[in-house]
Amino acid sequence: MQKPPNIALIGPYGAGKGTQAAKLVPKLNLVHISTGDLFREHLKNQTELGRLIQKYIDAGELVPDAVADATMEEWLRISDPCKGILFDGFPRTPRQAEFLDELFVEIERRLDAVVYLKVSDEEVVRRLSDRVICQTCHHPFHKSLNPFAACPYNQCQGEHLRQREDDAPDKVRLRLKIFHQETEPLVGYYQASEKLIAIDADRPIDQVQAAIVQTIVGRIGRQK
Ligand code: AMP
Repeated sequence: MQKPPNIALIGPYGAGKGTQAAKLVPKLNLVHISTGDLFREHLKNQTELGRLIQKYIDAGELVPDAVADATMEEWLRISDPCKGILFDGFPRTPRQAEFLDELFVEIERRLDAVVYLKVSDEEVVRRLSDRVICQTCHHPFHKSLNPFAACPYNQCQGEHLRQREDDAPDKVRLRLKIFHQETEPLVGYYQASEKLIAIDADRPIDQVQAAIVQTIVGRIGRQK
């Protein structure tokens, strides 16, 4: 039987990973996993891990690879093997990508495609300055580009929308620098293994979504 597809979304903060993930998950029947959401749950519940990573998240820095890898592995080992996964925010460094490759061999999964949402630094700053996140389901909205209309999970009426502390302008500039230094090398890594799908994400949400679906369906169809 054909195994379900596993897809990773990479791109800078504000590229639209969370927004596109919420649309792709039902369309491709995938399970969504965001390491950022897992970490925020730990912060909220003040777990030991939450106390360890607080300083990195508050500063807008990446948490150490070993912590991100262990968090991802813990989740993956209990994930449903019959369902494909949409990774949102993992891997974020070449070391994490190597870790995922090794773990996937062990748990008999395969990363089918890595969608790189390519967006300019100026557009990221513009988007993040007006981004708001639901405190309940973590879904992102934008005050003008993607205003709240309905909760995608039918959990609220938009009363829990807040700006994320790490979306403040100085943190955004730091996170962009970290993206270029730590995460952008993944583009070469996945180009080498012919998994990379680069999508121009400077465009409106629905156009980006259509381009991703069209390319992924073509790619996965060819692998069957
Ligand atoms: P996100 O919601 O994806 O923007 O993630 C929020 C924060 O969680 C990031 O700024 C990092 O501090 C941390 N984080 C999320 N995913 C990772 C990862 N794969 N590696 C390291 N840090 C991460």
